[in-house]
Amino acid sequence: MKVFGSSGTRGVANEELTPEFVLRVAKAAGTAGRADRVAIARDTRATGRMLADAAASGLASVGVDVDRLGVVPTPAAQAYSEREGVPVVVVTASHNPPEYNGVKLVGADGVELAVEDLERVEDVLIGESFADATWDEVGDVTRVADAGDRYVDELLAAVDRQRIADADLTVALDPGHGAGALTSPEFFRELGCRVVTVNAQPDGHFPGRNPEPVPENLEDLGRLVRATDADVGIAHDGDADRAIFYDESGTYVEGDATLAALAAATLDAGDTTVSAVNVSQRLVDVAAETGATLELTPIGSTNIITRIEELIADGEHVPVAGEGNGGIFFPDYRLARDGAYVAARFLELVADRPVSEIVAPYGDYHNVRRNLEYDTEDERNAMLDAAEAVADDADAELTTIDGYRLDYGDAWVLARPSGTEPLVRVYAEAHSAERANELVEFVVSALAGARDDT
Ligand code: MG
Repeated sequence: MKVFGSSGTRGVANEELTPEFVLRVAKAAGTAGRADRVAIARDTRATGRMLADAAASGLASVGVDVDRLGVVPTPAAQAYSEREGVPVVVVTASHNPPEYNGVKLVGADGVELAVEDLERVEDVLIGESFADATWDEVGDVTRVADAGDRYVDELLAAVDRQRIADADLTVALDPGHGAGALTSPEFFRELGCRVVTVNAQPDGHFPGRNPEPVPENLEDLGRLVRATDADVGIAHDGDADRAIFYDESGTYVEGDATLAALAAATLDAGDTTVSAVNVSQRLVDVAAETGATLELTPIGSTNIITRIEELIADGEHVPVAGEGNGGIFFPDYRLARDGAYVAARFLELVADRPVSEIVAPYGDYHNVRRNLEYDTEDERNAMLDAAEAVADDADAELTTIDGYRLDYGDAWVLARPSGTEPLVRVYAEAHSAERANELVEFVVSALAGARDDT
């Protein structure tokens, strides 16, 4: 795929991601998808309305009627899609900085388009084979005001409301000025929680923090948890398909620990779970302990979704899947990442015991990461050949789906060329820093040696 990467197409708005480009993407999607009606949703970004207008024009020009959902979380757009049976063009750059925007395409079943469907759209876009409508057949535009409210109603019906309400929880919420600011405060209140917020006004300039829910952007949330004696802190990214947590002492919880805790509470023997090739040892351990199978994909949510669909088609049960960045799927509910739903599933656990206890089994893991630079393609190839040679000799399970990952049972190491920089990244994770360092050093010395001999 050239235009759509592993999570849609993104760029700096009005420079890389222009209205002209979005109009053409919408025309291509409207042509390739062959739907009579398509919805458009957006997050809170300052450029969202301009780009959504361009998408609406593009769709109408190929004869497609348009439902304008306005600002809603991406999962709310996906809920609308599934309910109404219409595809959606979502204008969002998710966790990227405020100057970015992007386009994500969702099929009529509420699921992000799979790789092959995106390639069909790309073919139309690159070949400019748009199905332009005559003047009397262009699409109409209808405004839909209740997509967010309907989404909250569906969420409330899908989780254990009584269990959460009975626990009398205080939730500190940081929607980060994103689309979740319009739905999550009400959702958690309706669940019977006391809700205190920071950065909870939708604002495309993101004055309080950047949209990415990482610890350096979430210091205010940690303080809010402590100041209000909250039971848990919850943060979303810009389009609220992810949730990141703080414990009751205002300490950041690793996304990998949350994923492992939710997987441990959800997986049964014989189930399958799916994650990316940089998956934490925490999930490897949970899968082993529960008797579930762990399947790995290349990094990126599109790859995970495609693999889950294949597994479900093969009759496998995939009750939970996702990555350690807070993007978690519960496919029995919906094959979509949903920050509010993930948070509610986590609150079902918090109803029984404090967050720190829930994630305690997943705290003592150590990650080490090193970057190896190269100047020429020959040096890059020499390093990848060396990685292959290391893998051939190692007493470990090899996964070559995206770089070289070696699983030793108690630990793993991954050598993977960067997609954007002249680097080979080497990652390792183990139960001790010593073991993780030893694995990284072993692979780094082999790769650096091969590079330096080139
Ligand atoms: Mg997102």
